[in-house]
Amino acid sequence: MANLRVTNYSAMLPRDRPKFDAPEIRRWRRRLLSWYDRNRRDLPWRQDRDPYRVWLSEIMLQQTRVSAVVEHYRRFLRRFPTVQKLASAREPAVLAAWSGLGYYRRARMMHAAAKAIVKQHAGRFPGGIAELRALPGIGRYTAAAIASIVFDVPTAVVDGNVERVLGRVFGSGLTGEGFWQAAEALLSRKRPGDFNQAMMELGATVCLPRQPRCSACPVFDLCATRGDIDVPKKLSRQQRRDICYALDHRNRSVFLVQRPKHSSLMPGMWELPEIPAAKQPNPGSFTLRHSITVTDYTVRVMRGPAPGTSKGRWVPRKSIPRLPLTGLTRKILREAHVIQ
Ligand code: SF4
Repeated sequence: MANLRVTNYSAMLPRDRPKFDAPEIRRWRRRLLSWYDRNRRDLPWRQDRDPYRVWLSEIMLQQTRVSAVVEHYRRFLRRFPTVQKLASAREPAVLAAWSGLGYYRRARMMHAAAKAIVKQHAGRFPGGIAELRALPGIGRYTAAAIASIVFDVPTAVVDGNVERVLGRVFGSGLTGEGFWQAAEALLSRKRPGDFNQAMMELGATVCLPRQPRCSACPVFDLCATRGDIDVPKKLSRQQRRDICYALDHRNRSVFLVQRPKHSSLMPGMWELPEIPAAKQPNPGSFTLRHSITVTDYTVRVMRGPAPGTSKGRWVPRKSIPRLPLTGLTRKILREAHVIQ
């Protein structure tokens, strides 16, 4: 089939096209925006253009799938409905609300940025790219996304989805800054926020990493490759590890330990004490699976006391939801019906 596809298209494809001419750019914008108007996913952060909500969604969506973000996004907003509420919160409460999403540095940076917005901008989001980029945790992509979606600033965004779409549309040869220039050239100046979201939506739902749905693509006739692409074989870097924790649950309290403040991974978060793997599971022990970045864990949970060396604290069940737990600990405590 792959050869057939090449034979059918190769004669008519403008492979490695250097750029679009003006009519092609107009056609691209028209097609993409009208497709987006009809097909955009109904996501909670698309209901208005509130800068705080857009910012929160953009930060949560970094390195996290949309489906995993939706519920966390709602929960975080219930806890911190405004930038002022977030700015005045204590860090453990912010981390607790972020729990389960991982990459906790994002939550810490958001917290710091919220304080800066309240202190330096009287609680109003700045609309300029430079001012946005001066805030903690807001880089080129996030500043452009907020500025275009909320404030209609005509500036393009490039994320992994946009890179994939542009790489296929232009054939090859785009790298680094070239993606940003290509995205800028195509950008609709009238609807920059919608255009940027449409580009990302196209990559997320049609121009998929392994199997692009070219027959459903609104810009099919402008695309140099039309799905005739070499998909680089992904080398699996995934590792496997076994890990064992003690779940000591007595008098409606659970024994938890805090990760070191200087730890590179999840500093200051609370978790169950890790114990050496036991050969014989005790009654009530259970096993679950958990993945963090490149490691797949087989997690064994032993009911009973942790070794005497564990320095920790007894936390009443009702206080646990307010504690910044690691995602794995939250998962274990749910599995054991200690928390909901
Ligand atoms: Fe992607 Fe296919 Fe559309 Fe080209 S035609 S942009 S490869 S989905």
